[in-house]
Amino acid sequence: MTKNREILFMDPVCTHNIWGGERLWEEFHYLVPDRHSGECWGISAAYGRENIVRNGTFRGMKLSDLWQKHRELFGQTGQDRFPLLTKIIDAKEKLSIQVHPDDAYAEAHENGSPGKTECWYVLDCPEDARLIVGHNARTRAELESMIREARWGELIREVPVRKGDFIQIDPGTVHAITAGMLILETQQNSDITYRVYDYDRLSDGKPRELHIGKSLDVIRVPAKTVEDSIFSTQGLPVNRLNQLYAGQYYRIFKAQVQGEMTFAQAYPFLSVSVCEGKGYIDGIPLVKGEHFILPAGYGAVRLEGEMLLIASGV
Ligand code: ZN
Repeated sequence: MTKNREILFMDPVCTHNIWGGERLWEEFHYLVPDRHSGECWGISAAYGRENIVRNGTFRGMKLSDLWQKHRELFGQTGQDRFPLLTKIIDAKEKLSIQVHPDDAYAEAHENGSPGKTECWYVLDCPEDARLIVGHNARTRAELESMIREARWGELIREVPVRKGDFIQIDPGTVHAITAGMLILETQQNSDITYRVYDYDRLSDGKPRELHIGKSLDVIRVPAKTVEDSIFSTQGLPVNRLNQLYAGQYYRIFKAQVQGEMTFAQAYPFLSVSVCEGKGYIDGIPLVKGEHFILPAGYGAVRLEGEMLLIASGV
């Protein structure tokens, strides 16, 4: 295999969101469309929100074009599009409660789109924060009556969450990010979302559309247990690529660099986000907020500094 030793740095795309906070520009220094920018699409080949390569041989190319024209950079994935999407989300207000379909349902009902499996790493949150993950209905009949009768308080399952927690959101899982959460999200490259409940809020004077029928089709009953959905990643060894999760669509890693760390990039590709701190990768300076891809065959990686990295691969 030829050695791809060039790191692909991404130019992130930030979006205005009515619920967005100010941390993407205040803390991460991203170029944002306005103060309330809730999402940074850090490693994205999604249509309309493609990242552009910032450096080197492929400078100026969209990640989606790079995927089409230089597939050798991404190894053997068996995928027809860049499979992952990495975002940083800064929610100043709570987001609507959602659920995503799996591949089979999306294929049949959403023009052949993939489904959406996603996961969150909590970068920061208020003390005593709670997220919505799962629901309390024991049977499908109970789920239907709770939704039809708007018994949201009974239905929705809030779970306590702390900085450094990891949350896996399988398709069919009712979920929502709450106010004050700063998270790194890794997901399938898909945007199919069904809105279950929006707290009866109005936008431009009217409630946003809900997708109750499709939500009822896809919500899993009973929900996965809290223990199976969320866990703390505190206390993992430093200077190691610790695998947090491995499933059908992605594997997620956490590395806390303190001083010096080396590892081998042996995956088809590795998407990496610098979530805290600063340092170097193979002599190239890195700062908080940078996102890059280590291509196939990259091999030995040397990191220096004080950094929190979250990485994903397939
Ligand atoms: Zn979601």
